[in-house]
Amino acid sequence: MAGEVRVSGEVRDLTRVERIGAHSHIRGLGLDDALEARKVSQGMVGQVQARRAAGVILQMIREGRIAGRGVLLAGQPGTGKTAIAMGMAKALGEETPFAMMAASEIFSLEMSKTEALTQAFRKAIGVRIKEETEIIEGEVVEIEIDRPATGSVSKTGKLTMKTTEMETIYDLGSKMIEALTKQKVQSGDVIAIDKASGKITRLGRSFARSRDYDAMGPTTKFVQCPEGELQKRKEVVHVVTLHEIDVINSRTQGFLALFAGDTGEIRSEVREQIDSKIAEWREEGKADIIPGVLFIDEVHMLDVECFSFLNRALENDLAPILVVATNRGITKIRGTNYRSPHGIPIDLLDRLLIISTQPYTEKELHTILEIRAEEEDVEMTEDAKDLLTKIGAETSLRYAIYLITAASLVATKRKAAAVEVEDIGRAYTLFVDVKRSAQFMMEYQEQFMF
Ligand code: ATP
Repeated sequence: MAGEVRVSGEVRDLTRVERIGAHSHIRGLGLDDALEARKVSQGMVGQVQARRAAGVILQMIREGRIAGRGVLLAGQPGTGKTAIAMGMAKALGEETPFAMMAASEIFSLEMSKTEALTQAFRKAIGVRIKEETEIIEGEVVEIEIDRPATGSVSKTGKLTMKTTEMETIYDLGSKMIEALTKQKVQSGDVIAIDKASGKITRLGRSFARSRDYDAMGPTTKFVQCPEGELQKRKEVVHVVTLHEIDVINSRTQGFLALFAGDTGEIRSEVREQIDSKIAEWREEGKADIIPGVLFIDEVHMLDVECFSFLNRALENDLAPILVVATNRGITKIRGTNYRSPHGIPIDLLDRLLIISTQPYTEKELHTILEIRAEEEDVEMTEDAKDLLTKIGAETSLRYAIYLITAASLVATKRKAAAVEVEDIGRAYTLFVDVKRSAQFMMEYQEQFMF
């Protein structure tokens, strides 16, 4: 690792887009200021009670009162458990990482269970790293002055300046920097900015001595550039997850592993080194931690060792918000002979705030499917939407969502502008839902087994 922790801002999007495509229409929880759920908002439809409860949890998170606790979403498949978890992450801010996994994945990966869980946790912890770079001469940057004496930082740019005692500049933009560069403003120069026209005039050093401010008109603001070098620096902000930093710095893996999704085990020394570097950066104000949301679906599939890992992990200072989901009632805790609600040991259950999700009405299904079609840029006739809704109610919401893409391909093939009933019908016969698939297998079982 050569003492340097490397980061990269570009690798993150690929993995994200691929894993959350089905929820790309979710932009938040769709709550109003009083935390009441709007019927349809931010891509969210119905599930009002659960969304409201999720909103209260967000409030607790914002007030820092969630430490050591998690959330359990209990409800039937396709009732929006993943969507709600993702809505929580989105509501916490665009930069908030969202990591999701199905508990059963843990047993199929070629790594220990605790390693798989550690990776999942670290995928849900973001690090915002601020980096300062030199601005190339002539490059357009935005600046914003928030303190009279020194100038300050904005997201994309920074120019350190000193105002005269007479005036304070608050609102400088990229044009100003361009003008400064063009007029070859040097340190110690005084410049005048006409607030009305935005015109910038270089008055030179001697002006600072003459202080003939009145000569420039009443709307003029004056800035004296600092003695010494005119400092131009740009602040660049990356947000990466701890897991991405781990992978990039893991000698055996290299960053390409991020694309392959096959990161293997990461040595604990690598992680320790990264954690201490990040602690250092946080102290120096170069980095912040953004706790994200880790969503574990089918949580009843975890075994007792995994559950004790979760218990411990929740205690950690850097823990993301853990949201687990299940559709099981009382069932056996994997790896034991004990039965427990949702197959989760009592000590962990104690730490979980439980939210239940309810099946959707046809009207809600209709709206969700409409939103999805819009999201996928698919035109659909009203009849087609109604049929799709019926299919969704009979089979599953997820199946109906998949049919949108399939039916749109069928419609494109026959050069139709919109998906019609016949396209939905065709897609329905091409791709079977789980119920029909299982029935088919039962009917033809004997022929399959020989
Ligand atoms: P499972 O238990 O099978 O994982 P789930 O309860 O997590 O299912 P989702 O995957 O969230 O269900 O829902 C299925 C699809 O429907 C997703 O594309 C999701 O974004 C969408 N969806 C579910 N509920 C809503 C909702 N209330 N508003 C908008 N979209 C929703």
